[in-house]
Amino acid sequence: MTVPTLTHFAGGQRLAAHSTRTSPVYDPATGAVTAHLPLADAVDARRVIDDAASAAQAWGARSASDRAQVLFKFRELCLAHRDGIARLISNEHGKVLADARGELQRGLEVVEFACGIPHLMKGEFSDGVSRGIDMHSLRQPLGVVAAITPFNFPAMVPLWMLGPALATGNAVVLKPSERDPSCPLRLAELWTEAGGPPGTFNVLNGDKEAVDALLADPVVQAVSFVGSTPIARYVHETAARHGKRVQAMGGAKNHCVVLPDADLAQVTDALMGAAYGSAGERCMAISVAVVVGDATADALVERLSERVRALDVGVPTEGNPDMGPIVTGAQRDRIAGYIAAGVKEGAALVVDGRTHPRAQGPGFFLGGTLFDRVTSAMSIHQDEIFGPVLCVVRVASADEALALCDAHRYGNGVAIFTRSGGAARDFAHRVQCGMVGINVAIPVPLAFYSFGGWKESAFADHNQHGMDGVRFYTRVKTVTTRWPEGTSGASFTMPVLR
Ligand code: NAD
Repeated sequence: MTVPTLTHFAGGQRLAAHSTRTSPVYDPATGAVTAHLPLADAVDARRVIDDAASAAQAWGARSASDRAQVLFKFRELCLAHRDGIARLISNEHGKVLADARGELQRGLEVVEFACGIPHLMKGEFSDGVSRGIDMHSLRQPLGVVAAITPFNFPAMVPLWMLGPALATGNAVVLKPSERDPSCPLRLAELWTEAGGPPGTFNVLNGDKEAVDALLADPVVQAVSFVGSTPIARYVHETAARHGKRVQAMGGAKNHCVVLPDADLAQVTDALMGAAYGSAGERCMAISVAVVVGDATADALVERLSERVRALDVGVPTEGNPDMGPIVTGAQRDRIAGYIAAGVKEGAALVVDGRTHPRAQGPGFFLGGTLFDRVTSAMSIHQDEIFGPVLCVVRVASADEALALCDAHRYGNGVAIFTRSGGAARDFAHRVQCGMVGINVAIPVPLAFYSFGGWKESAFADHNQHGMDGVRFYTRVKTVTTRWPEGTSGASFTMPVLR
């Protein structure tokens, strides 16, 4: 079977690459190379950015209601093609089909929110700020904006950015992950089919060279990034140095605090989904359970160990497994390396995902791994592993649990399980983290709130979607109006309100 070579997307159609550099796209369930992805060079980047620039002004000049009509149609088409899109995601990412449909749904919720853009973009008006003078503010699009996205949500994270960016009247250059580019290309096709003007939603495929071209290009007004922390920091610093507006979400190490009064059956269910769903390749996955008291920890580890051993690991498009493979062989080996490091550092390995029958090949599978008696100094607690590995840390008190969460350099999501309203409220108020769940293990904000972490999980002050998305993709203009009759003479002093 010949392996296809993918393209960029510009001018409302797929665009063959100028560059001859490529990277392999895998089916992680078999390990086979299913496509070659072109990695953009400067010529590709120029073509795609110029194409966006040629479309931005006319799109921004259309009424907000008119743009919303295209977004409505785009949403309908995405839903009509939901199964096909989910299959593209599962085939290249490895997450199970139901999970792929779920991520599309969560992304489309941002599009639904953005359909309200005529209301969301409304400015302010003050009648008579001084004698015969009115003042109003309006929000205008930026022009061409770049969206740089990670492998783990090839539909949802691009839609976090595309929804508000397009609704507010910008043209977008999306630089998706090299690992799973087929879903973003399909979304661009559906946008065109929905009536999105050519050039408003472009895809530039590539690696660092493509990202660097976007970060330095004077046409690009703003950069939205989601990915790992070292790259988020680099994108934040580089884009800012080039005078761009930038938001950059990074990695995570999400803790779930379990107090002794928690319902352990509920905690076990919640942790299984939060730690092992999507093979742990979620920025909101729980990778550390901080358990207060040895008795609670003993009981929880016993329940979890049975369930982790019984995880159904399988081909993501066949049947309904709990967990599919890891995205690439390199990532699978990296996770296995952390499991080895955890053993060496003295943690108790309760379930070893490396010994799962599926992990013997073919494909990039690993079973679920459970560690007990992990300490904060160990690399498996310090680093983001981004795989199906759950670490149990034992502490003596709720205060010690809070201190452990706060001492970590990441602050994306955190959860607490308890039956005490007072303890939960106190924790939610004090914890240094951007998103908090109370008896909710994965507290991902809905589209009408905004998504973002604290500390090294996010750089710059705008979150993703919600009103923050509208603010990020627009700039405010404030207009002062006066319709005087006759002349009142020159004034050489600062005008003051009268
Ligand atoms: P990644 O940082 O490797 O890649 C993200 C993007 O950056 C990709 O488009 C990639 O092509 C590009 N990139 C990679 N290396 C680069 C370099 N040296 N210079 C410039 N650009 C580069 O991340 P990933 O492995 O695709 O995704 C997983 C990571 O994303 C995890 O750390 C996860 O926590 C994080 N993530 C965070 C959030 C959030 O909202 N905080 C959401 C999803 C994923």
